[in-house]
Amino acid sequence: MDCKEFRSLIRTFLDDSLDEFKLAEFLDHYDECEDCRDELRIQYLIYEGLERLESGDTFDVDRDLADLMELERKRLRGRNAFKKTAIASEIFTVAAFLIVMTVILFYQ
Ligand SMILES: [Zn+2]
Repeated sequence: MDCKEFRSLIRTFLDDSLDEFKLAEFLDHYDECEDCRDELRIQYLIYEGLERLESGDTFDVDRDLADLMELERKRLRGRNAFKKTAIASEIFTVAAFLIVMTVILFYQ
């Protein structure tokens, strides 16, 4: 992902609407590009700050943004782990089916 794409996706990211592939690329770019970190911080400040202002909540942009990035990373890891579990259980089902079929055929 380049800087241009990253910036075009900031809004989508803050709306929590990135798919997991884009989210992974987005977080990678966030880690390696200081300019884009600054840009995201500004957008976040505007986007989230306005909402907080209306609701009267306190707002610490650096802490809250760090929390958000951590949450997104966890979510991404969670989804990947879920996918691995799903694949593993599918393989297990197929293997169990084959064993049962072999046993049935063998003992006929
Ligand atoms: Zn960048």
